[in-house]
Amino acid sequence: MHRFLNGYTTYLNCPATCTTSNIIYAMTCPCGHYDYVDSTAKTLADAMAYHREHGNRIIHEKLTGSPLFRGSQIDPDEREKEMVNQMRLYQHSARCPEALRSFLDCNPMYWCFIPLPVDEAATENAANRPGNSTTDPNLDAVIATTAVDNHRVPNYLDNVPLPPTPYAFSYRQIKQQRLFFERFVTSSIHYRPYIKLDLYNIAIIAVLPNDCSMILRYIIETLFIIHGETKLNMICPLGGNAEKRYGRPYNLHWCDNLNNSSM
Ligand SMILES: [Zn+2]
Repeated sequence: MHRFLNGYTTYLNCPATCTTSNIIYAMTCPCGHYDYVDSTAKTLADAMAYHREHGNRIIHEKLTGSPLFRGSQIDPDEREKEMVNQMRLYQHSARCPEALRSFLDCNPMYWCFIPLPVDEAATENAANRPGNSTTDPNLDAVIATTAVDNHRVPNYLDNVPLPPTPYAFSYRQIKQQRLFFERFVTSSIHYRPYIKLDLYNIAIIAVLPNDCSMILRYIIETLFIIHGETKLNMICPLGGNAEKRYGRPYNLHWCDNLNNSSM
């Protein structure tokens, strides 16, 4: 059984596991406000791997302002990434405080990209003016021993998105961002600076026969989207566009309630 956020309830038509293929599945954000329906001819494990790949990459790219890909000039997956980057599903998880908090729990080195409320940044800066040593002697040692001669680091720092008002980065955060990018540019191009995690709760809602055509699968998937009124799908019950009906997939004040006061 699966209950959509609008209350619509559906019952699985036959037993399924994450190795069952040809399925329709629902994804629900842990924040409890957004859901999504998708289908695959492959298995749930394959679909989860796909969503993990893009969801975590897009968080990295939204926070740092730079693409993860550091290979040759031409990214072979660029067209697919461009399309995926427009999806409400990933736009939401990259700005949802709940999803971001899970990401930051696994990847605390990204906290320096989460702007602080302006007064908090000012208080921190007053205690730690630039030029003075930081309050963390280990960090000072790392800064002192890391040669800052990589010309790409300033470019990366320039690309970090400006904090929305009334937020700001503290000097400590900017230092940590510099360290982050120094490691990033000197690591292998295949290295990912983050641990990937599943950002959505996921459930199979229907299993289709193996000979079910793709068209039929899409039709059934669309029926679930219509009944479930899933806010993150790009199509919506009354036609038109999802943004008009459901609004933006995230709150512009995304750093509200995302303050790591323990740091
Ligand atoms: Zn959410």
